Amino acid sequence: MAVPKRKTSTTRKNMRRTHKKLTVPGMVECPECGEMKLSHRVCKECGSYKGKEVVSK
Ligand SMILES: [Zn+2]
Repeated sequence: MAVPKRKTSTTRKNMRRTHKKLTVPGMVECPECGEMKLSHRVCKECGSYKGKEVVSK
């Protein structure tokens, strides 16, 4: 079986994991208030969707 010749350094390990984040995929920043929201959903902070308010607080 093929075995890695060199130990993976901490830097290389961290570089590999740069795209692994704790945030849930599908979270985008609301263009109205800047809060994180689920994409294709009405923002729960300001109740806006596609640039206009659809749900009043
Ligand atoms: Zn918002």
